[in-house]
Amino acid sequence: MAAAAASSQSLPITVSNLVKAYGDLRVLDDVSIAIRPGEFMTLLGPSGSGKTTLLMALAGFVSPESGSIRFGEQEMITTSPHKRGVGMVFQSYALFPFMSVAENVAYPLKIRGVSPAEQKSRAEAALAMVKLGGYGGRRINQLSGGQKQRVALARAMVFEPRIILMDEPLSALDKKLREHMQIELKQLHQKLDATIVYVTHDQREALTMSDRIAVINKGRIAQLDEPKALYRRPNSLFVADFIGETVLLPVQRDGDDVSLQGRRLKLATPTPAGSGPLQLVIRPELLQLDGGGDDQTNTIAGVVRQTIYQGDSVLLIIDAGEGREVSVRIATNRAGQASLPDSGSQIALGLHRDDTVVLAEQAS
Ligand code: ADP
Ligand code: MG
Repeated sequence: MAAAAASSQSLPITVSNLVKAYGDLRVLDDVSIAIRPGEFMTLLGPSGSGKTTLLMALAGFVSPESGSIRFGEQEMITTSPHKRGVGMVFQSYALFPFMSVAENVAYPLKIRGVSPAEQKSRAEAALAMVKLGGYGGRRINQLSGGQKQRVALARAMVFEPRIILMDEPLSALDKKLREHMQIELKQLHQKLDATIVYVTHDQREALTMSDRIAVINKGRIAQLDEPKALYRRPNSLFVADFIGETVLLPVQRDGDDVSLQGRRLKLATPTPAGSGPLQLVIRPELLQLDGGGDDQTNTIAGVVRQTIYQGDSVLLIIDAGEGREVSVRIATNRAGQASLPDSGSQIALGLHRDDTVVLAEQAS
């Protein structure tokens, strides 16, 4: 039928001032977010932060107290789920066990009244897209977890939706397969003309896959940025701590300046205003073992306490005095070695000005 066969064109999604409450709990607390057409947008946050609720509001399965959700120009808030035309993928696959693989994938076409011949050819094409060409005749229970999730993906995209929503689709898979599927999904997105909203609590997965990431905390958007900006310029201690491997070092406020171990720090950005406590955010891989001492590099003095071999890198635990601990990650070379200082030795770590982030502790 025309509606299902129409060639798709990805849509922007505009969420404005969305509020959802269960009793006294505001699960979505005035959420606004503008998702670009064709974008891979990830909602990232800890368990219970409201990610699934936001996704289900987009799908139409959760009705918000107030606010607006537009797909393109069209207001969706009162549109029923099956009329929103979105594809969905869940962690639990949600496949029909009594149908074949091909029947599962063709199902969205069947309920849209597409002819059996076209159902068959489009289901086959969708299965080929997820590298399951030739699997159409199998039963669902003959598939591995990764294959089942591919079938769920094929089913979500077979009717060429302009929007695809995914809720932790890879979290039931083991680590190796999950990382493989992350790359595959990213490649698949490049071939699809669809806006994808993807939910995960795994920060590395979010960094790997997304065009942009919305970090959610307690029903609010804490920061929305591209992966690199989020990693390098977190705007709060929550985001800094949630994304990547993070060491926080308390630093002293000194007028407009900041000092550590009695030395004034050279910073990339102005010191946060106010009088509250400040923390220096350190990524262990950005510290240099040679303190350098040039006018662009900060020096942090310490004593090596522990050296931990981790295959691709070595983690050094450094005592930076006053109970402060810093970790330093050094990539290993082709011989599987990094040239390292001995335990107990004094070292001067270097932190380039461009790699500094100083954030204020928030009153919570
Ligand atoms: P996430 O997907 O980020 O883990 P959810 O959106 O599932 O978080 O849930 C956010 C909060 O809303 C949690 O505190 C959860 O317990 C609560 N919640 C979700 N659904 C319901 C519901 N149907 N009734 C009551 N509370 C709910
Ligand atoms: Mg969830």
